[in-house]
Amino acid sequence: MALKTGKEYVESLRQLKTRVYMFGEKIDNWVDHPMIRPSINCVAMTYSLAHDPRYTDLMTVKSSLTGNTINRFTHLHQSTEDLLNKVKMQRLLGQKTASCFQRCVGMDAFNAVFSTTFEIDEAHGTSYHENFKKFLTMVQDNDLTVDGAMTDPKGDRSKAPHQQADPDMYLHVVERRDDGIVVCGAKVHQTGSVNSHWHIFMPTIAMGPDDKDWAVSFACPTDVEGMYMIYGRQSCDTRKMEKDADVDLGNARFGGQEALVVLDHVFIPNEYLFLNGEHEFAGMMVERFAGYHRQSYGGCKVGVGDVVIGAAALAAEYNGVEKASAVKDKLIEMTHLNETLYSCGIACSCEGCPTKAGNYQIDLLLANVCKQNITRFPYEIVRLAEDIAGGAMVTLPSETDFKSDTVVGNNGETIGEICHKFFATKEGVSAEDRARVFRFLENICLGSAAVGYRTESMHGAGSPQAQRVMIARQGNIEGKKELAKYIAGIQD
Ligand code: SF4
Ligand code: FE
Repeated sequence: MALKTGKEYVESLRQLKTRVYMFGEKIDNWVDHPMIRPSINCVAMTYSLAHDPRYTDLMTVKSSLTGNTINRFTHLHQSTEDLLNKVKMQRLLGQKTASCFQRCVGMDAFNAVFSTTFEIDEAHGTSYHENFKKFLTMVQDNDLTVDGAMTDPKGDRSKAPHQQADPDMYLHVVERRDDGIVVCGAKVHQTGSVNSHWHIFMPTIAMGPDDKDWAVSFACPTDVEGMYMIYGRQSCDTRKMEKDADVDLGNARFGGQEALVVLDHVFIPNEYLFLNGEHEFAGMMVERFAGYHRQSYGGCKVGVGDVVIGAAALAAEYNGVEKASAVKDKLIEMTHLNETLYSCGIACSCEGCPTKAGNYQIDLLLANVCKQNITRFPYEIVRLAEDIAGGAMVTLPSETDFKSDTVVGNNGETIGEICHKFFATKEGVSAEDRARVFRFLENICLGSAAVGYRTESMHGAGSPQAQRVMIARQGNIEGKKELAKYIAGIQD
């Protein structure tokens, strides 16, 4: 089947019976809901760019499973070049949307589950790898968006899954049948859930023998019986519900999306199982998925960073301070930080290697270093952007005021005219364009997009401590001690 267009993707969502709740109510037409639609537009961009002749080389690739041309978001990486192209594609999408475009979690799950199932089958004689290959072929042939769902609610963090007072705190098997399993539980702050055709569920931590029922991975359609989503809210999100909202949204067309995903006795047929009790492989799946997604941030957040830097430079220009050396230096610093992040995304890709299953994996140490830097640098980039923009990005009157014809002045001036008069800047720059750039920065630093740029940089793909655990494990301190001993002439 041909690659879907952005429009076909949006229409395909309408065919699903996905259950979505927001503000305590079921949302029937969630595809056109003003708070959800920007996040759908974002995923649609992953389809549209595949048809843009400027980007087809980056956005499409030959499938290792079928030989057909597929969207790179459904690809199993076959080389370090593929890993590099993945990061470049994500930077491009970040530049085009200034948001989280969500489809990467599925791509990262494909690559982690492909290699892990191969190794489970090798150890246990199971057939998960075949299950997965059949599933992924269907995904590639139909150009589907698949969500990769990992983060369980976790309940009491000091306890293992089987020790929780409520067993649903980690997604688990509640019934085993001849033809499949029944699962209960949830995934929290799940990116792109509502916008996906299918989901892949994976465990969130390494597990022991007592956690067998929680060591489970599978695929299911997003509108499967028993599954529903409660939409996550974002700062300033209800601005999207305001009549004719545009300037005040900062980024009117694109946005990210997170949700609480609940599975209430969902039946999963055997053919969609990728892990079912082989607890010792839960950690491998987690580690690999997290590694790929930590690489991903060296692309997507860099692309968004490009837009932030551009907006800060525009704000400086509109304020008439673009020639000030202090402003120039801040833009240099922002660029330096952003490109450092990109370097990490590139480095962990270049140092990638093949897995036993044949697809390529990033260098895990460097991918974790990449994400660790992502937990810091976007904060500094945003701080500098706010510094350059000035206070107006958070004090500006509303778009409605700028348009208001209510008379307030002694000479009959309207509220709109007064706003335009006092927020005017240098010649050739309209107050509206200036407001647009301020609102964009507000959105990305503090509003809805802050979920995707700032806080997600901290916690998405694992919080900072999760990377530090991996860095400790991969850092080879013992090997480094040997180096020091040799140079210093210390003999054991
Ligand atoms: Fe993709 Fe970045 Fe969003 Fe993760 S945070 S899904 S890598 S855009
Ligand atoms: Fe993310």
